[in-house]
Amino acid sequence: MRWYTGLFYWGEIVSKTKTVDDHLATFPRARLMTAVTPVERLARLSEALDIDLWIKRDDLTGLGLGGNKTRQLEFYFGEALKQQADTVLITGAVQSNFVRSTAAAAALLGMKAVLQLEERVSGMGDPYYRSGNVLLAKLLGAEHMSYPKGEDEVGADNALHERADQLRAEGRNPYVIHLGLAHPPLGALGYVACGDELSRQLEDFDVAVVPSGSGATHAGFLTGLRLATHRADVFGICVRRDQESQKLRLQTMLEKLSGLLRLENGIASEDIITWDGALAPGYGRIGETTRNALSLMAKTEGVFLDPVYTAKTFAGLLGLLKEGRIKPGQKVVMVHTGGIPALFGYQEELDVA
Ligand SMILES: *Cc1c(COP(=O)(O)O)cnc(C)c1O
Repeated sequence: MRWYTGLFYWGEIVSKTKTVDDHLATFPRARLMTAVTPVERLARLSEALDIDLWIKRDDLTGLGLGGNKTRQLEFYFGEALKQQADTVLITGAVQSNFVRSTAAAAALLGMKAVLQLEERVSGMGDPYYRSGNVLLAKLLGAEHMSYPKGEDEVGADNALHERADQLRAEGRNPYVIHLGLAHPPLGALGYVACGDELSRQLEDFDVAVVPSGSGATHAGFLTGLRLATHRADVFGICVRRDQESQKLRLQTMLEKLSGLLRLENGIASEDIITWDGALAPGYGRIGETTRNALSLMAKTEGVFLDPVYTAKTFAGLLGLLKEGRIKPGQKVVMVHTGGIPALFGYQEELDVA
């Protein structure tokens, strides 16, 4: 009888020889997520926009006020712990959520964090340098350094290595989380897990909209959905670069990610969609479109978006609707990647009316 049952299910077993969890199980992982994040329907916006709109609440990932970096850091800290590191170094913009989340993970795991803040956004007011993520990182007890340039990934990584060398000479064991594309995109593995998680929470959605910055979230999420055999269109909304440069970046990152996961078939080029209609006036800068999107979400649904990533992502969703690339009646899910603390760093830019 048992043999017969096995035979009966054989077709299903061969089509799903390896689950997404099986793929991820080969990587060291520090558990930083406190729970599966909720998926909620935005009823009032669905009605107003004539679509079936859902939101994946990755702003609620738990650790140190949450956001998408919690998922990414599970794999970086997994590797750091495997190497018995006692210090983790990372670089980012002044109001970087990645830097703040790293400081929180280091505190949780009893490690030291070294945070390098880059001058990526000019002309900002006092709260940008003191409030929001800057204040939180300070409370988390991390060491701070600064880097004068904002568009120099290799230089910023090299500066981290110089500090790491000093720490090594003092007898510490540092681990560097790199910004540059030459390194394995371990953080993207966290979003492979998210794509899989969402595919089990929400059936048959047509479109997903995600922010596309370093590309780890976009690349991982797209790969996770496809591994879970989900066919939804995934739009990466550009928050840092134009759509052509971002697509090239995604291609490189997806190749590296497929290599890490030992996938036979990578993601096809036509499956990588980037859209930059909501990027202006540039990375970390708020224009009218960003401000309106942030305010529409807050006033209609009581959900806060952040000024750098998720307000632009929602503005992107609205732009895609206007262009007809998202169609009336479609089931759409937006991934909310967090970043709420940065609202306070942007107080002067937001508090205008
Ligand atoms: C870092 C960040 C992003 C961008 O994610 P990438 O993986 O770098 O593309 C999006 N949203 C928030 C809130 C972030 O902090």
